[in-house]
Amino acid sequence: LKNPLRGLLTQYVNMAVLLSLIASVLIVYFFVGALNRHAVKTDAELIQGGVDFVVARTEAFARDYGWWREALEAFETTDINWMYRNMGSSIETPRAFDILVVAEEADGKIFGWDENNPDTPRPDIFTPAQLADIRDDLATAHALGRYSTSHMMYIDGRPFIISATLMGENPDRSAYSPLDDPMMIIGEELDFVFLTNIGNLFDVRDLQFGQYDTNAANSLALTDSAGHHLAYLVWQPTVPGTHALRMTFLPLISYIAVFLIFAIFIGRRANRLASTAVEGERRATLASKTDCMTGLANRQGFADFVDRPCAEFSAAQGQAAVIFIDLNGFKQINDDAGHKIGDRVLKIVSQRFVNAVRDKAFLARMGGDEFACVLIGSDAEGDADIIARRLIFSLEEPLKIEGSFYQVGAAVGIASSTGNDLQTFPALLHNADVAMYRAKADQLAEPLHYDAKLEEEHQYQRDLCEEMHAGLERGEFSVHYQPIVRASDKSLASVEALLRWTSPTRGSVGPDEFIPIAERTSLIQRLGAFVLKTVCEEIGPDAGFSVAINLSPAQLRDPELCQTFINILDAHNMKPSAIEVELTEGLLVDNLGKAKIRLQQFVDAGFKVNLDDFGTGFASLGYLNEFPFSKIKIDRSYISKCGEDPKVSQTLQAFALLTQSLDLEVVAEGVETEMQSKLIHMLGFDYLQGWHFGRPVPAQKFWAAHGGGATPRASDRSPN
Ligand code: C2E
Ligand code: CA
Ligand code: CA
Repeated sequence: LKNPLRGLLTQYVNMAVLLSLIASVLIVYFFVGALNRHAVKTDAELIQGGVDFVVARTEAFARDYGWWREALEAFETTDINWMYRNMGSSIETPRAFDILVVAEEADGKIFGWDENNPDTPRPDIFTPAQLADIRDDLATAHALGRYSTSHMMYIDGRPFIISATLMGENPDRSAYSPLDDPMMIIGEELDFVFLTNIGNLFDVRDLQFGQYDTNAANSLALTDSAGHHLAYLVWQPTVPGTHALRMTFLPLISYIAVFLIFAIFIGRRANRLASTAVEGERRATLASKTDCMTGLANRQGFADFVDRPCAEFSAAQGQAAVIFIDLNGFKQINDDAGHKIGDRVLKIVSQRFVNAVRDKAFLARMGGDEFACVLIGSDAEGDADIIARRLIFSLEEPLKIEGSFYQVGAAVGIASSTGNDLQTFPALLHNADVAMYRAKADQLAEPLHYDAKLEEEHQYQRDLCEEMHAGLERGEFSVHYQPIVRASDKSLASVEALLRWTSPTRGSVGPDEFIPIAERTSLIQRLGAFVLKTVCEEIGPDAGFSVAINLSPAQLRDPELCQTFINILDAHNMKPSAIEVELTEGLLVDNLGKAKIRLQQFVDAGFKVNLDDFGTGFASLGYLNEFPFSKIKIDRSYISKCGEDPKVSQTLQAFALLTQSLDLEVVAEGVETEMQSKLIHMLGFDYLQGWHFGRPVPAQKFWAAHGGGATPRASDRSPN
């Protein structure tokens, strides 16, 4: 099964891991970048500081020499030797300066020393234009109260820092005229030595001159006094961020690895948690839709299955069928053998059903011993019939549980949605149920397809059931009595109490019609008690003959039945010996063990027990010996054929002989003619019952005919 939450979680965890990784990388990237950028800025400031320092030093040299009285005197006296010894020779000293010029250009008096020819003064180190520029600068500075200037300048194509001041010792510098007083000019070349010095000083690598403005952060413009860019300093930017990254690369990678492993772990764990949660939820929903005993879908599971749009669509297309199954004989097993065996039966039956259905249909246990199947497809109706037959067939073999054999059957109804008759699933389920109900009532051994007529009958039966309840309250039920006479002299031996219902709307309804319906509800218990009570009241303790009362198998399921009967009899001062209970043969076949115990209760309490309708079911004569019967009543169908069919006569004779040998009395039911009466007598029957001797009549009429319990003569019998 798919687990949507699992997929979603995996997606989330993956996304979270990916995002954190991206975030980490971005943070590292920006951090490294910021560090690097900051370093470049600091470098630029440091280098600017270095340049400023050199400028300040050069300017300091200019003032030092320029504001020296002996220097001015030596210049004025043109003492070249002095000037060289005390000033010009400094050019040869490292870390001093590269050019020294003293000039009074107006007078053409210019002496200069540079590295090329330190001992011979040169007048042409600066062009006249450059000298004029320097003097201009000085004049501007003087006007502002500054008495020395510095700026960048190219000399012979090489960049220099040039510092200048007017010569003279007078501390009042404003006294000097920047227009015609001699200038002291000191030049420092921004050369390799200068660069390495600054580079070393500030730990900047590869400091160089660049010709072009790179606009990069790691470049610094050197400007002349007019603000023109003379040169650019470029350097290898220090990259502390990159450096740091390189240094921390291994720990970083380890961190990411650990993070990933952790993330995978968390992801797995979350997945597992989600799985358990989802699995739990799935199980819970499944459980709510599953019958835990059989593992089949339950009613809810069935509802969910047919609620799906595709199922609804199939039904709307006339391509769906529902099979409804109700087990026969299960309730009896459950009551008699116990719930444990009952559960085993349900499990085995479910398994057989699953095998019978295979994957052709959806099977559900609707509750109790009810099952339902859904079929979808173009031939759902035909397939439903095949599967329904297979379901019935699957129960043919008895169920072996704990060494005992149990037999259950199935009443099966089918309802289909077809092109001619489109039905929804709720309607199909209802119709299949109706068909099943009918199949059960008719004890059909094959599936019954729903028909609108069944619905009417179903409705009729439901109405009937309701009316019976009401009718019992209103006293619409009564008991009629039919005599049973001795074959020898036709004297009254006993009577059979037969229930009658006269409905105000339906008129007289026969027990064959209403008893089977009452048997499906608790009504049968009330009817049974009603009959006995009525018998007690109408026949009483002094009748001198016993009364046979019919018991429905459904009544026998009540373990208290015998006690209830005894209580009723006690209340009317009657003894169980006055009562014969009659059970039809079918009960024995359906349900051996428990029936025997219950019947024994009746026998022990003093009741007589008769086997009714013998020959209609499948009971073999062997049963007769096993049960505590006192009378066997041979079914009317044999009697009516006797005389017509010699075989039947032979069978009846055999019955009579056999029952005699088993010390059982045998009664012939439904004797309608004198002929039958004589024949049956001849065959060796003990008792006779039938219209020939009296129809069932109300108590009053019965007493009128039989005279308050006096032994009636055959000629006194009530008229037909
Ligand atoms: P049953 O126990 O076999 O009762 C005998 C049925 O045969 C009665 O039908 C009776 O009227 C009918 N009968 C008697 N003599 C003749 C005859 O000569 N010819 C014909 N054709 N029929 C004859 P009834 O009263 O309609 O009862 C039908 C069945 O309903 C009974 O069959 C019995 O199984 C059931 N029944 C009747 N009363 C009760 C009752 O109080 N409780 C239970 N559980 N079942 C009852
Ligand atoms: Ca009977
Ligand atoms: Ca009978």
